[in-house]
Amino acid sequence: MFAKLVDVLFGCRHARYSFPVTLRGAKARRSEVAALTGTYVACLNCGKEFAYDWQEMKVITSPERHRERLAELAKHVA
Ligand SMILES: [Zn+2]
Repeated sequence: MFAKLVDVLFGCRHARYSFPVTLRGAKARRSEVAALTGTYVACLNCGKEFAYDWQEMKVITSPERHRERLAELAKHVA
């Protein structure tokens, strides 16, 4: 209840994520976030999807801040 109210007022904090899902080839290209690293997680609260970096074990919430890292990862996906 309180968490829902916080989501409405401040937006979801994306505190809980699903297990990372790795997509390959055509499937990966169909998902915008999976296309970044080939792997994505979904927020268990709002359902938003985020790219996931397996090597760094990190969720990439802002592609802008990880531009260089993503460019490097994209080479491995392609
Ligand atoms: Zn969320």
